[in-house]
Amino acid sequence: MLKNYTEVIVAEMLEEVLDELKKRMPDLCTCERCREDIMALALNRLSPRYVVRDEGEIYTKVNMDQLGGKAEVVTAILHGCEVVKNQPRHN
Ligand SMILES: [Zn+2]
Repeated sequence: MLKNYTEVIVAEMLEEVLDELKKRMPDLCTCERCREDIMALALNRLSPRYVVRDEGEIYTKVNMDQLGGKAEVVTAILHGCEVVKNQPRHN
């Protein structure tokens, strides 16, 4: 099974970043659509890292160093949040 590891990490970190961000940006929407928009924007800024995994194989704890560090992922998510906050596309 082909998997983009960057996507796994962004999904994993999104909750953490959103929780923190909502304290500072109470008007940031976190509905399903906005979350996906934030993820798409973040992923487009990061390099994909494709890995092959057997079906059902458990992911070991993510190695952030392989992705240029946690800061880069957080920065990309924050960028996505800014864009979505200023121009939400939900109905
Ligand atoms: Zn929304």
